[in-house]
Amino acid sequence: MTDPNRRQIISLRDVQKHYGSYHALRGITMDIAEGEFFSLLGPSGCGKTTLLRTIAGFEDVSSGHVLLDGRDMEGVPANKRPTNMVFQSYAIFPHLSVAQNVGFGLRKRSDLDKSAKSALIAEALGMVGLDGYGDRSAQALSGGQRQRVALARALILKPKVLLLDEPLSALDKKLREQMQTELRRLQRHVGITFILVTHDQEEALIMSDRIAVMFEGQIAQLASPQELYRRPVTQQVANFIGVMNFLPVEISMGQGGSIDLDIAGLGRTTIDSAQCPGAIRPGLGQAGLRPETMTLLVDGEDADGHLAEGQVEELAYYGDMTYYDVLLDGATVPVTISMKNLTGRQVLDRGARARVAWDPRALVVFAE
Ligand code: ATP
Repeated sequence: MTDPNRRQIISLRDVQKHYGSYHALRGITMDIAEGEFFSLLGPSGCGKTTLLRTIAGFEDVSSGHVLLDGRDMEGVPANKRPTNMVFQSYAIFPHLSVAQNVGFGLRKRSDLDKSAKSALIAEALGMVGLDGYGDRSAQALSGGQRQRVALARALILKPKVLLLDEPLSALDKKLREQMQTELRRLQRHVGITFILVTHDQEEALIMSDRIAVMFEGQIAQLASPQELYRRPVTQQVANFIGVMNFLPVEISMGQGGSIDLDIAGLGRTTIDSAQCPGAIRPGLGQAGLRPETMTLLVDGEDADGHLAEGQVEELAYYGDMTYYDVLLDGATVPVTISMKNLTGRQVLDRGARARVAWDPRALVVFAE
């Protein structure tokens, strides 16, 4: 949810971008609030970098408007915009020291004397956890430290908006996870609006206040991580964010906003229309359930609510979790069910009969 009292720092109005005959951005309209951690998420080629570059001023829009802090940016070059960008390849200068890299953007600032510049550099290095690294050669840094230098260099100019184009993608998994947490903490600390471009849904979920999911130059859904995960508006979004099982369903309209469903493998149930964020109409459709919303019951366990039966076709043991593929009786494709391997809890074998507890409140239904 956007807070209506928060100032909108970025407003995009029907932004279109053509590269020759290729239509890369197809009418992007959205607002981003001051102090938000906002992510543009989507598969390769969906236009997220192009959108970031139009905000930065590295690309002109073909039509539409980019407003930064209430001002139309038409004709305003990148270096005159209140934004700064951190790139995927850190683009730090190897022949300069860390301090020279961080202070690079200040070199033409005649209003600042040497000691004022040094103080700003020290402050920026402190922000990214590189106190005392100023004199070091930029070459003598690890990947994570280089990325921090790039961040410090961008932050020292005190932009209103920091644009981050896949800034963590060159780092290995452990370091990337660590930097995700640090970047989030840094953003909260400085209070600047961050816009992150990523194709990694987990990264977007972990870090963002809100996420715009993009496909083919359009925003498919703009929502908080929880909302996107729990109430995706289309099957495409549901597939892109985490794992969702789909079962064929027959939809009919019930009384007073309720919807009656007959789901292959799960049977009949009724849900509230508010559970269907996309357009819903009678007929055939797909019912979606996340793997963790179903429970595979083991001997002696009972379900209070809805129960389905089937057979374990395959399982993958991950130590903390087991992922089961279960073919429910009456269904043609297996569903994936994730179970925590709690101490003493039995892990079912391939071929075992499965009793599955499920909750209609977790269903998301898409009409065909
Ligand atoms: P990735 O994650 O791979 O970087 P993306 O979502 O950021 O993908 P963009 O880089 O924005 O995608 O590109 C969107 C589309 O526009 C792509 O099909 C790309 O080939 C095309 N495109 C981008 N820049 C240009 C350009 N300068 N000239 C022609 N086509 C371009």
